[in-house]
Amino acid sequence: MAEEPQNIVPAYEDEDEYRLEPTLPPAPPAWKDGSTRVGIHTSIAGDIAGALDIAHGLGANALQIFSSSPRMWSRDRDSSRIQAADATRFRERREALGLGPLVIHDNYLINLGSPDRVLRARSVQAFHGELVRALALGADFLVAHPGACCGSSMQDAISAIADGLRQAARGLKLDGLRILLENTAGQGSSVGSRFEELRAILDLCGDLPMGVCVDTAHIFAAGHDIRTAEGLERALQHVETTIGLANVYVIHTNDSKTPLASRVDRHDHIGKGQIGLEAFGRILNHPLLAGRAFILETPIDKPGDDRRNVAALWKLLGKEVPKQRRGRDGFAIRHRVKGRAARRTGRAHPSERPRKAARAKAAARRAALKSRRRGN
Ligand SMILES: [Zn+2]
Ligand SMILES: [Zn+2]
Repeated sequence: MAEEPQNIVPAYEDEDEYRLEPTLPPAPPAWKDGSTRVGIHTSIAGDIAGALDIAHGLGANALQIFSSSPRMWSRDRDSSRIQAADATRFRERREALGLGPLVIHDNYLINLGSPDRVLRARSVQAFHGELVRALALGADFLVAHPGACCGSSMQDAISAIADGLRQAARGLKLDGLRILLENTAGQGSSVGSRFEELRAILDLCGDLPMGVCVDTAHIFAAGHDIRTAEGLERALQHVETTIGLANVYVIHTNDSKTPLASRVDRHDHIGKGQIGLEAFGRILNHPLLAGRAFILETPIDKPGDDRRNVAALWKLLGKEVPKQRRGRDGFAIRHRVKGRAARRTGRAHPSERPRKAARAKAAARRAALKSRRRGN
């Protein structure tokens, strides 16, 4: 262009000109600049784009959300779709806030490993919906609990899960989206408390963009003692030899209420549980885990818990909490949507279910006692 004579007046308006853009690869999103990424699971109650402002307001630069109600089957295909206008608004807001990666957690009811044909078909359809919504929102990762055997053998469950994932993804172009299998605590007949099981699923899904999300509370409850430096080395070595650390993209960073090898999934605040602050300092700064997104799924017991847990991670990383605007607090949101609405949209993790079940049981016991006293 520099050789062109300068004195020629163009015969057409500049704006009309078709400009051949240089064919450079698209610029990578801001979050892929190699900076440390700390995120938190935030509520989509009310408005899905609001989750972005919540995460940002809490001092996170990454986030995880459910893309629809986590404990309900959608009534039909259309009810679980995200409106195009909402998706656009979400993408624009996310870009403005520079948040990433965006992680979506799948519905808790999905069990691709189920031997029950109806439940399995429903799960495949629901997981397809998860993929469609994740693509609409421009998510980077979709984290999935692998599933549970529910009476079938581990081997059968593993092949059913892999088949289910491939069926659910059929016909979709998963560009930029990666499915991450999450390791489990080993409760019930769940698949994935052993990394060999995750490896087996990955091997059967060779044609899909796959990876793994390691949950610190789950790996600890499954028997890996990550409290000590040597224990952490051993656990990382084990992950490396089974699935390969290169396949780990996200770390669910949660302390554990339950002890080592308890096989019970109960999350705690960073530094307040059985794993402890010192261990989290080692995990967050371990060179083998550099570049991973650390995403909190900690409980909200008191106002400010979310903010404190985000701040705890930045502090352990030796970094300032990123500049933030005053944001809404997860506590306020959880307590604003009570009852049915909270169940529909809430962010309660399965680890909180035992408490709820225990409360319901105690209430039933009291009621039974009362009616017995009344002589009924
Ligand atoms: Zn998790
Ligand atoms: Zn958990």
